[in-house]
Amino acid sequence: MTQRRGNGRVGNRVVIALGGNAINPPKDTSLSDHHGWEVLQQTTEELAQLIRAGYEVALVHGNGPQVGALLLQNEAARAQVPLATLDVCDAETQGQLGYMIQQLLGNQLRRLGVAKTVVSLVSQVVVDPADAAFLQPTKPIGPVYGRERAQELARERGYAVREVHPGAWRRAVSSPRPLRLVEAPALEAMLAAGLVPVVAGGGGIPVAERDGQLSGVEAVVDKDYSAELVATELRASTLVILTDVDRVYLDYETAQARPLERLTLAEGRRYLKQGHFPPGSMGPKVEACLRFLEHGGLSAVIAPLPGAEGAVKGVVGTRISG
Ligand code: ADP
Ligand code: MG
Repeated sequence: MTQRRGNGRVGNRVVIALGGNAINPPKDTSLSDHHGWEVLQQTTEELAQLIRAGYEVALVHGNGPQVGALLLQNEAARAQVPLATLDVCDAETQGQLGYMIQQLLGNQLRRLGVAKTVVSLVSQVVVDPADAAFLQPTKPIGPVYGRERAQELARERGYAVREVHPGAWRRAVSSPRPLRLVEAPALEAMLAAGLVPVVAGGGGIPVAERDGQLSGVEAVVDKDYSAELVATELRASTLVILTDVDRVYLDYETAQARPLERLTLAEGRRYLKQGHFPPGSMGPKVEACLRFLEHGGLSAVIAPLPGAEGAVKGVVGTRISG
């Protein structure tokens, strides 16, 4: 049952975003594909408990390391298989992680006797071709190349390339803001039908809209911003962003680093301006939480994965509220 609150928010409705880096740590190539299954096993146990307790949950997930692996595979096989564009790679990873979550969370729900079905939605998000992000592709993706190969790719495929370390080059793409989730009208109906939606995976597939027609864009969208779109669209009371750190820190990775248990909207805006939360990692999470509150959300939590239950109950992570 949905529980309406006076302010139009649904009290028991939470949107939970799972960090792609927490599922598959990108720097640890010694970890087998099984690692992701193990992490999600633990996470879905907690999610199932929340759902059994009466929470209406919609899930979002990241895909950075997963799409990175796919791009490496594509590049390695390019003589045999045509290269897939980035939007198609995004769609593939929505299927990959969506499948894992559907199976694992489905198993947990059946174990607990909860009659709900987990359903992944291939999701597109509209971005603005005039977004300033397109002027400066900043997000490195895919394999590392030497200078010559990088320049060749820039010529042949029109890639923007960047030297990320001396002698190490990567393709760089833009990370525009998502404006609208194309499949949003399906979400409310899914929840009303008792489904658990997995939506906007990897931030959603970025698309441009022209005269009502959509087409894929070679960019990446930060899933934290898309999770905010989903949470606001669904009038959720709480947005939870699960990642690979225990809390949000001030002066992160310095001798003065201090973890935050609570944060107000005003403090969040101030710290963001002071540069405590860098773009591309913690910045989008804090910004997404602040916007969620500004759009009427009641509270937002940034917490470790696994940690969904504690985050929703407010006992782990950093809780941000008005
Ligand atoms: P995800 O895949 O969950 O989106 P990100 O790498 O995008 O993960 O963001 C999480 C990372 O943000 C952490 O691993 C941490 O290194 C980094 N980070 C940067 N600034 C901070 C901060 N102020 N407090 C906590 N973590 C921070
Ligand atoms: Mg991220």
